Amino acid sequence: MYQVLARKYRPRIFDEIIGQDAIVQTLKNAVNNDRISHAYIFTGTRGVGKTSIARILAKSINCVNGPTVNPCGVCSACVQIQNGNSVDVIEIDGASNTGVDSIRDLKESIIYSPQSFRFKIYIIDEVHMLSNSAFNALLKTLEEPPAHAKFIFATTEIHKIPETILSRCQRFNFKRIPTKIIFEKLKEIAAAEGISATEENLMIISSLADGSLRDSLSIFDTAISYFGNDIKEDVSAVLGLTPKSIIFNLITAIFAKDHESSIKAAREIYESGADVRQFMKQAAFYIRNIIVVKLNYRDLIYDLTDEEIKSLTPFAEQRTLEELLDMLDIIINADVKFQRISSPLLMLELTIFRLFNVPLKKDVTELISKIDGLAELSVKVLETPAEHGEPKNSLESHKSNEITFSEHIVLTGGNPNNVPQYNPAYKQNNKQPLEHEKLFEHFSKMDEKLNEREKQTKLDGIKQPNDRQEIFHEIKKKEDLIIENIKEIFGDSIERIDKN
Ligand SMILES: [Zn+2]
Repeated sequence: MYQVLARKYRPRIFDEIIGQDAIVQTLKNAVNNDRISHAYIFTGTRGVGKTSIARILAKSINCVNGPTVNPCGVCSACVQIQNGNSVDVIEIDGASNTGVDSIRDLKESIIYSPQSFRFKIYIIDEVHMLSNSAFNALLKTLEEPPAHAKFIFATTEIHKIPETILSRCQRFNFKRIPTKIIFEKLKEIAAAEGISATEENLMIISSLADGSLRDSLSIFDTAISYFGNDIKEDVSAVLGLTPKSIIFNLITAIFAKDHESSIKAAREIYESGADVRQFMKQAAFYIRNIIVVKLNYRDLIYDLTDEEIKSLTPFAEQRTLEELLDMLDIIINADVKFQRISSPLLMLELTIFRLFNVPLKKDVTELISKIDGLAELSVKVLETPAEHGEPKNSLESHKSNEITFSEHIVLTGGNPNNVPQYNPAYKQNNKQPLEHEKLFEHFSKMDEKLNEREKQTKLDGIKQPNDRQEIFHEIKKKEDLIIENIKEIFGDSIERIDKN
């Protein structure tokens, strides 16, 4: 008979627990030092090891070799606890025993010594489901627990537990298990089960489980029952997801502004029967990952293989951070924006149209660093000693082409007769976007810096005229490039004028 993976691979000893290292270490120390608390409360999302650790701890305490961090697994205590039929280790499901009765039973039976083992251990799962009167009854026992009793509570909703109970327990917060760790575990299990599954598929299953090992194993079971032992085909559709290849094609088409392919991809997604809202979630994560690549925080991508991460780089290079954030914004707001549209296909198409129209934004910071580079270059020219004998006024004539390029730029505000000049007065009155403000500030700082350097620089040295010309040429080229970039940010409201 097929045994579900979650049951078959349930951890039996501390060392088989994954993703909860700190908790495991603390409990091991408690067992080793014989300082086991009389009540624990384990909190965390489902399927992260709360009940497994509760049972392992119970075995550690009651094993014939105990207390030990390595319960033998074969003595009667270990076997009974493993099978959940020990008279001294009582498991209560808070979700199905909400009444006071089971706790009243507990209150009455707890006073008697354990029948076979060292300790009576009460494991209460979903303890937050107990009624108020059950909590009150429980509190009485917790206030004066008999020396032979231990409690282990588990809950997914710690906020529903009365403070009076919490204050009498040692608390452990269980973490979601990182996708990469689940992925490694699935690889191990696949090998043990003789199942050949692609890494991409195991990654899809791991990330869909949202930090729960148990969920990942149930999803893996679903995939196995569909594909058998050979899971090579993309499992997405079977699990209600849009295959990554389709998302990749769609994103490629959107980035390339290829309307036809995008609409085709949208129809493909719709016709595959995928839930459009689930798809939006996947697409949002996709853009999120591109942003993470853009920011160079690849370690923060949990749900893609290295190969898949590499495929995001071209996208990250094509758009600025602000553009990517705008795209993410459109996708995550699609639900709200189009809530009155009942057709999922239409919602999908409209979202794609909106993604086409994300305005191109140059990154002001990037631009400023380019300007800085230019400024440095200008200073270099100034600091370069002029050729011996070159008349001073020739140098002066170069100067107007050199550093004061901020003076070449004015904002016309679209009206050539009303030129808001680059000067402090403009700054005070302007109602331009922040970017203008930022640039102007930068220009003026740069001018100050350059003037300062210029004053300090002695200009009467020696320099080959050809070299100087080359540098001027280079500056000019860069300057043109920057002006172009600035124009892209500010559109037609900016114009370049020659100072003279
Ligand atoms: Zn044992």
